Amino acid sequence: MPLIRNALVVGGGIAGMSAALVLSRLGIEIDLVDQDPDWRVYGAGISITGPTLRAFQHLGILEDFRQHGYCASDTRLFTPQGHPIGEIATPPLAADLPAGGGIMRPILHEMLASRTRTAAADIRLGVTVDSLTEDAEGVDVQFSDGREGRYDLVIGADGIYSRMRTLLFPEAPRPRFTGQACWRITVPRPPQVTGVEMYLGAPIKAGVNPCAADKMYLFALESIAPNTRHTPADLPDLLRQRLSGFGGAIAFVRDQITDDSIINFRPLEALLLPGPWHTGRTILIGDAAHATTPHLASGAGMAMEDAVVLGAELAAADSLPAALSAFMARRFDRAALVVNNSVRLGEIEQSGVHSEEHPRLMNATMAALAQPL
Ligand SMILES: Cc1cc2nc3c(=O)[nH]c(=O)nc-3n(C[C@H](O)[C@H](O)[C@H](O)COP(=O)(O)OP(=O)(O)OC[C@H]3O[C@@H](n4cnc5c(N)ncnc54)[C@H](O)[C@@H]3O)c2cc1C
Repeated sequence: MPLIRNALVVGGGIAGMSAALVLSRLGIEIDLVDQDPDWRVYGAGISITGPTLRAFQHLGILEDFRQHGYCASDTRLFTPQGHPIGEIATPPLAADLPAGGGIMRPILHEMLASRTRTAAADIRLGVTVDSLTEDAEGVDVQFSDGREGRYDLVIGADGIYSRMRTLLFPEAPRPRFTGQACWRITVPRPPQVTGVEMYLGAPIKAGVNPCAADKMYLFALESIAPNTRHTPADLPDLLRQRLSGFGGAIAFVRDQITDDSIINFRPLEALLLPGPWHTGRTILIGDAAHATTPHLASGAGMAMEDAVVLGAELAAADSLPAALSAFMARRFDRAALVVNNSVRLGEIEQSGVHSEEHPRLMNATMAALAQPL
């Protein structure tokens, strides 16, 4: 008999869909709302680390990933001009896991969404939560489509700009601009790019990662002034300029850019909500509680791990308060490690000074995240 009978998940991104899958397996009836009427996700690639693959395994999407994503193990390092300077071998976390890889976000979204459609009792799109009133036995929810519901638990998984965070914790910190922006574009994968390639030493840190047998994506991190925004029509020329002077795979990407290319330019922000991320019957997970920059490629993995750990604690504890406290005890330090160290890596990059702290911090963080959940 589960501790709770039903739960509402607010936000159908990686965190929310993962929570819906994990909790429904415990016999908990799940309703999910997402404010996007089309339940879309933007078309970039996403890098997948060993711990994220372990979360995939928990969620039952590892075989789909092997089929539709790209599995890789080594990271190759180059000068900006494309001369090889080293290789980092990444061992898999377990014999039955790939070491790492990449996938297109819309493919990952569909892998989770198809399972969520089966697992959830009700999915309503174009809908959000207007208000919540919590008492000892449940949470009354007023939805934006005029409907009402009562739930044993409400899970806020509505991303970095979370409205649920504002409703539950009005004093919560806001996302903070970290000084950099990330450029992303997806192009065909040339056969010689078989894993992550990083081009280090220029003011812009650029890399590529295969995200399907025939695709790879470029990520490039640039220091920018606050409030820098570009109009979409300017992005192709601006990205070409940013990538001028690079060789190797980065030059290949530059040559693929056309005026119709879909290019994503995103100023980076981070947020770490002080604990606890829950009240008596509501909880925040994923970017709503801990949004990170891409430096450790771990935000999606952390969102999935939140769902896995929440499910494990709901299954193991003898009361809801005990489950939520146990969740916090397992999640806060791990999420803080990712957010704080990602921000620090960005600060080192912005200083422009070559520092041994950067690889040391990356290796130490990845080693810590490789530990059991
Ligand atoms: C530039 C960049 C690159 C990144 N690259 C990587 C990477 O390579 N690897 C990695 O692991 N992580 C990466 N991340 C982090 C990763 O994308 C996030 O950590 C992850 O998407 C968080 O998932 P989420 O479900 O918490 O939030 P989201 O993915 O933002 O999903 C939130 C969902 O909630 C919905 N929603 C929003 N507001 C409401 C509302 N009020 N009511 C109802 N629904 C709502 C949205 O429509 C959306 O479906 C990157 C992040 C950035 C910014």
